[in-house]
Amino acid sequence: MTTPTSDRLLLPLPDRSEALRDATWGTLAPLYDALLAAEPAAGDDPSAWTEAWTATWSTLDALVREAGAFAYWDYSRDTTNAEAEARYLRWASEIGPELDAARTRLASRALGLGLTRPDLVETLENWRTDVRLFREANKPRLARLEELSAEYDKQVGALTVEWEGQTVPATRVMEHLHSPHRPTREAAFSKNLRAYWHARPDLTGIYGQMVPLRDAVAREAGHDDFVAYKYDELYRRDYGPDDARRWADAVEAAVVPAVERLRAFRRERLGLDALRPWDLNAPLFGGEPLHPYSTVDELIAGGERVLGAVDPRMADVIPEMRREALLDLENRGGKAPGGYCTTFDVRGLSGIFMNAVGVADDVMTLLHEAGHALHHRLAASRPLVWTRSTGMEAAELASMTMELLAAPHLVRPTGFYEPEDAARAEYEHLEDVLSFFPHCATVELFQQWVYRAPDGADAAAQDRSWLALRERFDRGVSWQGLEAERTARWYKQGHIFQVPFYYIEYGLAQLGALQLWRIAQRDRAAAVTGYLNALTLGGTASLRDIYAAAGVTLVFDEATMRELVQAVEERLGELRAVLDA
Ligand SMILES: [Zn+2]
Repeated sequence: MTTPTSDRLLLPLPDRSEALRDATWGTLAPLYDALLAAEPAAGDDPSAWTEAWTATWSTLDALVREAGAFAYWDYSRDTTNAEAEARYLRWASEIGPELDAARTRLASRALGLGLTRPDLVETLENWRTDVRLFREANKPRLARLEELSAEYDKQVGALTVEWEGQTVPATRVMEHLHSPHRPTREAAFSKNLRAYWHARPDLTGIYGQMVPLRDAVAREAGHDDFVAYKYDELYRRDYGPDDARRWADAVEAAVVPAVERLRAFRRERLGLDALRPWDLNAPLFGGEPLHPYSTVDELIAGGERVLGAVDPRMADVIPEMRREALLDLENRGGKAPGGYCTTFDVRGLSGIFMNAVGVADDVMTLLHEAGHALHHRLAASRPLVWTRSTGMEAAELASMTMELLAAPHLVRPTGFYEPEDAARAEYEHLEDVLSFFPHCATVELFQQWVYRAPDGADAAAQDRSWLALRERFDRGVSWQGLEAERTARWYKQGHIFQVPFYYIEYGLAQLGALQLWRIAQRDRAAAVTGYLNALTLGGTASLRDIYAAAGVTLVFDEATMRELVQAVEERLGELRAVLDA
């Protein structure tokens, strides 16, 4: 924790974020306003004053970010707690938008002060973007988009299916896609996607309102279309929409044929005439699902041992959170779904939230989130809060690389599995890794089409565009008679509705992670050192430089992609040999 000492601060600020727990915008606004209006006194050294001003803002932001993070943390741990819910909603909907606007005003002031620091180069560039894109006239449009996004959540959250005589949330049946029993898988698949298909008028109705609003936001901010605007707004300075299309072409050439080969193997192995979409997650080697641990304490202890085995410098990441009660891993009634890693900026620590139920995915999720926690930890000592975090392309490099570097340590007694089960877990993980790229490419290309085609806001045209992209990228599986289910898949992809264009980051990061995994096959120490170097940079370097520090590149070309895919296929071949022995 190296927040600047308070005697350098221009405002009296609390030491702990707990003091802001029940803040409203009414209590926070004076702090931001005072900072905005602050002027050096006669005789102040201008550069020392600017430094104190910056340190004050950073300290205020760290406190506010931590208080906001705890509001969501507490709410997600118990969504039935009305007080926690009210506090979270106040942070998200009342404070959040005002905070964004206040930060943009302060960014503008900071730029006006001529602030320069080597570690702030990227941050200043981000602020320049925020200031350049900000338009008062867009505020009502952005507020309306927030409402529509909440409406999407509401609609999707209300989808139910009939399962074994009971009405259950549509998401609940997804776990049955891993069943060894084919009719069970088919029922789960069909019921889930049919629920989305029946909600088509509502869901495409929401999207149909979002697209023109986003187009208007982009034009108001001086861009030709929403694609260019969003790439700018997401601070994508190292690649653009054309690179993303080139990336998708490379996926089609280098990854799609490999996924087809994996699916052909799957079809043979399962003894099927035709592989159907509900067979894609069927267990391939042995019918019983993997059971890596029994209690959450075992999961935590295993995670600690595995990280320590990857490198001693990672050994304390999980214990530190455990000691501070910042791990909430077990599935419980009332918890929000899913898993995430959050940062507590004043404490310099992370928290991991999960819904662990004793399956192989839990181990992978814990390792993934621990990669994020390590990233936060390594950058936590940086003095200014904004330099401690990165864009998603670098953040997911941290988490996805951890999944791959940990694979050799998943065998007992360090890890969770007998050797054969460890091979199964690794096979399933690598199969998922390859299968993700074609899906990622369709999500990106679909959105580029939506925001650029003359009929991009039309629901029927959207469905046609999605199906054409699926034909191109989703091969080696029979969708015969399943056009509705295949179409409805995009209604289910929340990113398309709620965080447009935020998706290709996962694909780019996975390619970075695969390069580190390749380096580790030859020289584990070099891979770990590069990985730690990259993470330690936090947000002080460009995306390209962070990847370079890791010893990897951002991959958009077919040749590099092909080489990585080949390495994964070789490893899958080795694992099949182990599993069939
Ligand atoms: Zn992640």
